[in-house]
Amino acid sequence: RRKKQKSTQEIVTAILSGNMTALSQAITLVESKNPKHLEQANAIIKQCLPHANQSVRIGITGVPGVGKSTFIEAFGTYLTGIEKKVAVLAVDPSSSITKGSILGDKTRMEDLVKNENAFIRPSPSGTSLGGVARKTRETIILCEAAGFDTIIIETVGVGQSETAVHSMVDFFLLLKLAGAGDELQGIKRGIIEMADMIAINKADGENLKSAKLAKVEFNRALHLYPIKASEWQPKVITCSAIKKEGMEAVYTIISDYLKLTVDNSYFYKKRNEQNKFWLLQTIEDRLKSEFFNRINIKKELEKQLNLVENNETTPFVAAEYLLGIKD
Ligand code: GDP
Repeated sequence: RRKKQKSTQEIVTAILSGNMTALSQAITLVESKNPKHLEQANAIIKQCLPHANQSVRIGITGVPGVGKSTFIEAFGTYLTGIEKKVAVLAVDPSSSITKGSILGDKTRMEDLVKNENAFIRPSPSGTSLGGVARKTRETIILCEAAGFDTIIIETVGVGQSETAVHSMVDFFLLLKLAGAGDELQGIKRGIIEMADMIAINKADGENLKSAKLAKVEFNRALHLYPIKASEWQPKVITCSAIKKEGMEAVYTIISDYLKLTVDNSYFYKKRNEQNKFWLLQTIEDRLKSEFFNRINIKKELEKQLNLVENNETTPFVAAEYLLGIKD
């Protein structure tokens, strides 16, 4: 016999009392492709929403190997040590392709995994960054309703995923490594502009000297950027995730940022802007997927693409034709 499905109300009540199993179940519903599950997920989120929002959302990015997992293990453990409840989520649009996420690697978060004040969830799999990002955003709400006051969202520092994560967090932390004096070369300008803090990791052993040098260089470079709308001057520090050094400094800087932006209201303004952005983004995603999933569109799109390829129609005429198809 099949186990009786939990009702929406039962799941919500359990989430609000901090039950991790219920939280995981709800996230699984959010990540499901089954329309019935999604309907229930929406109902759960709606009821959780009034209990959400009471957290700090921190985005962490950096290239593979920079030490993100190790850093989150150290920082998450530090946070739980000062009575915080930490949820770690990941945004990895490639997880569906590579089968097995390179993020949220629990083997490198050994202590945090066992910590009862921490919750770690790997990236949802999805075909598009938009889909993965939206699910993560809904998961944030569920985690907050379950009482997590610090939400860490990890993403890999390649491609567009930083922008998606930036649009769902309050504070954005970029992890870097000290190189051979060419720190500022080959760095993506956009990412630097998004960063509220740069932490130069692996500042230990032989790396220590070059890390300190890199800190000076990044600091100098950051001062060349115009003042941000938050009025926050991004900070640069060095840390050693593996030695768990620099975690208090990271926490202090985030606290300073929060104080400034709550005082000048930027914190709330940014969250409002993010909510509006996500409303529009959700509509856009939904319209697009509904359109492209229509049987007739699938058939006709193929034909029109061929016509365009053979110069037998223009892209604009073809688009008008497809948009005009009634099922
Ligand atoms: P990720 O791919 O960004 O998640 O990086 P990982 O956390 O998996 O770390 C990549 C490698 O760097 C691992 O072998 C870690 O042990 C090592 N590592 C991470 N942080 C530090 C650090 O602070 N110092 C040193 N020396 N090694 C580190």
